Amino acid sequence: MCGIIGCFSEKDCYGRLLRALKKLEYRGYDSAGIALVHKNRRLHENYRLIVRKKKGYVSALEGAVISGDTGIGHTRWATHGVPCDRNAHPHVSGKFALVHNGIIENHAALRQELCEHGETFLSETDSEVIVKLIDRNYAGDFFAAVRAACARLEGSYAIAVISADHPGEIICARCKSPLIAAAGKGALYVCSDAPALAGEAEFFCPANDGEYIRIAEGKILFYDSAGNEIKKSFLRLPAQIAALEKGDKSFMEKEIAETPQALSDTLKSLHRTDFAPCARQLRGAKRFFAVACGTAYHAALAFRDRAEECLHIPVLCQTSSEFRYRSPLIGEGDVLVAISQSGETADTLEASRLAKERGAYLIAVTNVAHSSLAALADFPLLLRAGPEIAVAATKSYVCQLLAVFYLTAQAHFFKHTRMPVWFFELEKLSETVRAAEECFLQTSHLAKQLSQTFGMYYLGRGQDVVTAMEGALKVKEIACVYAEGYAAGELKHGTLALIEKGFPVIAIATDKKLAKKCENALAEVKARGGFCALFSQYEDVLSESCADFCCRLPSISEPLMPVVSVIPLQKFACEMCLLRGFDPDKPRNLAKSVTVE
Ligand code: GLU
Repeated sequence: MCGIIGCFSEKDCYGRLLRALKKLEYRGYDSAGIALVHKNRRLHENYRLIVRKKKGYVSALEGAVISGDTGIGHTRWATHGVPCDRNAHPHVSGKFALVHNGIIENHAALRQELCEHGETFLSETDSEVIVKLIDRNYAGDFFAAVRAACARLEGSYAIAVISADHPGEIICARCKSPLIAAAGKGALYVCSDAPALAGEAEFFCPANDGEYIRIAEGKILFYDSAGNEIKKSFLRLPAQIAALEKGDKSFMEKEIAETPQALSDTLKSLHRTDFAPCARQLRGAKRFFAVACGTAYHAALAFRDRAEECLHIPVLCQTSSEFRYRSPLIGEGDVLVAISQSGETADTLEASRLAKERGAYLIAVTNVAHSSLAALADFPLLLRAGPEIAVAATKSYVCQLLAVFYLTAQAHFFKHTRMPVWFFELEKLSETVRAAEECFLQTSHLAKQLSQTFGMYYLGRGQDVVTAMEGALKVKEIACVYAEGYAAGELKHGTLALIEKGFPVIAIATDKKLAKKCENALAEVKARGGFCALFSQYEDVLSESCADFCCRLPSISEPLMPVVSVIPLQKFACEMCLLRGFDPDKPRNLAKSVTVE
């Protein structure tokens, strides 16, 4: 959520900031803004701040004729204050301009205090209090003023600040929101996320919570929370990130197409992972907990299904945002599996911190090796899905499923000294997922047929309930169609009331022993005039169904089918989105990497 960028470049940095902001746009697109320290050529050595900010996409900033070698930029996902020019970042006070990612939880008290001291505010954002505090604390020492301001803040923030009094200098602070420093040819950067620097930077280094980054005198310096300089090592920007280009299609379409490769890369990496360090916990656990948000939560539910069936121990699954506030019973001897694509999901990080405080062992399933969640984990389990830019998760979900199934198989091995039978079919997953692309022509027809629907249901039984939930989430997220993913058996306990002529119901039946039960639900829908679509790998299940639309899925061992059956549903949602005139990469009100609670 929210992308921040700072750049010091040998030449003008406006173009660099703009390019990075465009790549950061997946983190928010309510407004965009840039501030530069501009050297006034006529008045020797006189510097001033220039700010351009606008509601809407980054493209609104194109064409502005402003220059400076030091600047900051922002793409906003509004938390406090409506999306408008006034609330857009950067915010300015005196000689300071600031961009912020996060939420200042004590902003109201600080605002009141500042108003009592005669300050006036131009925006409704929580962020503006930070720049006011910096301004008020300034007595010539820029860094000291930022530290003094940060000492007053509660909540989460990654900030980047520039000052007209300090050309060539950018000061940043990080508390619970992601921030990296990076270096490229002729430019130094600070940024929310490495993919924004694709093609610009060669090396990067993430900041830890409580640390400060200072770009000054052409160098990047790191400081601890007390303001002491610390040494950090830079890593080369991974090749996949450096080569990130969207091409003609949306990122979502590109990422769906990359899924088979993402799966085989993730499987190779899992084969190389040494699970011995967590053998004792996997063998000894009397129960597991699993937390995640959104799509990743569905991967947590799939983990529950597979692990309970294989290991015969309970898996307690909860959305991360609820976990903390429900007196969780987690403690020593328990294992928490936390799943987050970015590894920066604020709710999941907080849930994980709480679990660790209570003595639980933390296994983190994430796609970003240098993320906060990976750093927090006792055992990071890394996906190799490659960068995922589209807000709606696709390839990362499929790789999360692979990773949690793999983890289940390892736990099975440590308990019973053998792998479950389906483990040996994992090698075939990637090609089976590729074969699922053959369903796309049919899903495209289905999307054309249903594109104007106001709502729909997704149904499944057993392991297909999770796929139904994920299918429904996808179509809600990007196509703005109201949808519910449901256990087919629950239909008659309420949902059936809404079925009327033509109401679409998509069912998934990949578990042979439950297929008849799922068919019963479809018959109940048909009897009331609903429209039924069915996805299954079994020819007889399809041929014996009353469904109006049938799609044959490629087949693999049943327990692995959730990895395959979701693929046409992702593509279907994407088609629905395009047909309804939306941009799959910019779903309404949503943004990637949810770094606020
Ligand atoms: N709270 C800030 C605003 O609403 C930043 C939002 C964010 O980081 O998502 O402007």
